[in-house]
Amino acid sequence: MPEKPLTYKKTLQMRRNYLGRACKLHFEVSPLKIVRASKQYLYDDSGSEYLDCISNVSHVGHCHPHVVHAGQEQMGKLVTSAGFLDDKMVEYAKRIIETLPDQLCVCFFLNSGSEANDLALRLARSYTKNEDFVVLDHAYHGNIGSLLELSPSKWKNLNITKKEWVHVVDCPDLYRGRHKDDANPSLKYAQEVHSAIKKAKEKGRSIAGFLSEPLMTLCGVINPPKNYLKLVYSFVRSSGGVCIADEIQVGLGRCGESFWAFQMHGVVPDILTVGKPLGNGHPMAMVVTTKEIADSIGEFNSTFGGNPVACAVGMAVLDVIQNEKLMSSARNVGKCLMDGMRAIAPNHPMLGDIRGTGMVIGIEIVTDKESKKPSKEGAEILAYKLKEQKIIIANDGPHKNVMTLLPPMCFTCDNARRVVQAFDLALADIEKGTSNKPLDQSEDTKMNIPLNILSGLGGSTGLGMMDEEEEEEEPDSKRARYDEMD
Ligand code: PMP
Repeated sequence: MPEKPLTYKKTLQMRRNYLGRACKLHFEVSPLKIVRASKQYLYDDSGSEYLDCISNVSHVGHCHPHVVHAGQEQMGKLVTSAGFLDDKMVEYAKRIIETLPDQLCVCFFLNSGSEANDLALRLARSYTKNEDFVVLDHAYHGNIGSLLELSPSKWKNLNITKKEWVHVVDCPDLYRGRHKDDANPSLKYAQEVHSAIKKAKEKGRSIAGFLSEPLMTLCGVINPPKNYLKLVYSFVRSSGGVCIADEIQVGLGRCGESFWAFQMHGVVPDILTVGKPLGNGHPMAMVVTTKEIADSIGEFNSTFGGNPVACAVGMAVLDVIQNEKLMSSARNVGKCLMDGMRAIAPNHPMLGDIRGTGMVIGIEIVTDKESKKPSKEGAEILAYKLKEQKIIIANDGPHKNVMTLLPPMCFTCDNARRVVQAFDLALADIEKGTSNKPLDQSEDTKMNIPLNILSGLGGSTGLGMMDEEEEEEEPDSKRARYDEMD
């Protein structure tokens, strides 16, 4: 441990030298150095407090003492890899299963959402003996090969071409989607799945499964219309496939209406995957499925999956959700936020659509309400202007114009009102045209930070730290260090 923390500049330089360029940062032009967090607040290296609207991983609040204590205590007692009988593991599995419909009764423990989805694919294939999957356009399901093939949102950047075993259908978007004006959009969108299955069959292929989030966050926070999932699940099952619900972002009460998002739609998936919120920051994930599907794979190994620390932490997270009534709180606070946004919407031509449920909220930024043209630039500037007001929100979705709120579940109505007020101020500014210069207009070449952002948004960038002291330049590369040694 260094005696003194690194300066902002040094951390930035070292990151550039030692981490892959492809590793993305929030606020790339003026990234934050967050040094601690508590509840729904993040603190940077200069002590500034930020309201956190994006850390769905910190489900019950950053560093919740009950969760921290459970992890620390277990860490000091026993940490084994898989393969021993362990009370915590079976008790935790039982607690998760008690929240689910009867048929979802067998758990597998893993360490990340990607691993959970990969196992779900393997289970679907071994159970159905089929190979193909249907996914929604713009979806993201994980950062490993099998899942990037099923994540159309990443194909362009990663130069991935669609494989023959992947079938892509439209996300059931009622705001700007293809069938938004249809009398029965649920049916129209579900029929796309039906025809994808039919087309696959005509080519001699068969569907192993349909993989989607029940509330499609990565597609721009799309809550599917009534009956859509019911119809899709019945089409998939009648073709011999299984239905996989990816609740890696939306599970564990986040939607406010029910503990699992699929329950809002009156369906039960054959395979459920859960990740991020389970461990409140501790890496853990699960697959829960039926006995028949679980028994179809010959063998399963995970070194860390379901280790005693993970299970102790997971159990503590469930305690907090229950004790602090976080599910009903999510419902009320989400309503408070969306009502507030709807109240200011008439004043803002750029506030296109406000949607979501509980602590899963998407706000579309458009050039104007008539054309609904997505404004990625407006959303980006808005994110930086909100940062100036010490609120952290990301712009996401297929056009990067959906301000996506997935805050820790301890978010309050006061926090929600603050966010609404900040949107009101920032949007008024942007709509007046005082802030909408392109982000890449001019650059400070040394730090690679556009000057218009820095001048407009000073203070919160942390760059004040840069000139505090003269310090040694970090060598540019490993090669440079070896050269110096010679
Ligand atoms: N599915 C969804 C819906 C996700 O949002 C993510 C992570 N953003 C993943 C899967 C992958 O999870 P992980 O990063 O934990 O592997």
